[in-house]
Amino acid sequence: MLHFMQDIYYAEKLGVRSMAKLARGVDNKGLKDAILAHREQSQHQIERLDQVFEALGKRAKGKACAAMNGLAEEGEEAVEEFDKGPVLDAALIAYGQAIEHYEIARYGAMVAWAKQLGLAEAANLLQQTLDEEKANDGLLNDLAERVLNPAASKEESDEDDDDGEKDEGEGIDESDEPNGEGKKKRAKK
Ligand code: FE
Ligand code: FE
Ligand code: FE
Repeated sequence: MLHFMQDIYYAEKLGVRSMAKLARGVDNKGLKDAILAHREQSQHQIERLDQVFEALGKRAKGKACAAMNGLAEEGEEAVEEFDKGPVLDAALIAYGQAIEHYEIARYGAMVAWAKQLGLAEAANLLQQTLDEEKANDGLLNDLAERVLNPAASKEESDEDDDDGEKDEGEGIDESDEPNGEGKKKRAKK
């Protein structure tokens, strides 16, 4: 449980920094507001973790979380690689939800363990954050399905109408593949 606490402590702090970066790439105001509101909420979640550490009689301390590093990096890379607009927004919601799902998994386990160990105060604090993460996941899901996915899909089909050959030459960046395997395979065709 202490290991998970340190993991999520790191992840929440990284999340606060990463959400500021992701918000800069967002075009839709509703999504930007949602990300910034959750960023604010995450500051309180960090304070709650401080309280849980205290309840456990341990010093609050983070430990690098490889999963969160990767999840944050994926979203930030998308912001750098793609132009602002509905398609990037739809992708950023999906990246954001991946982060929420990671948090839900971690908090879910910690709530169960705190209960098992009879740590009522810790369980209660962790449950509050778990509820917030689930609510945020639901909000993002709703925003995606109601607004951003339809907008992204419309933009894609408008582009296809403009220029049917636009996609030519795009495709997998072979330089990312190990040992140039992909290049060889495709060259054989
Ligand atoms: Fe969080
Ligand atoms: Fe982790
Ligand atoms: Fe979250």
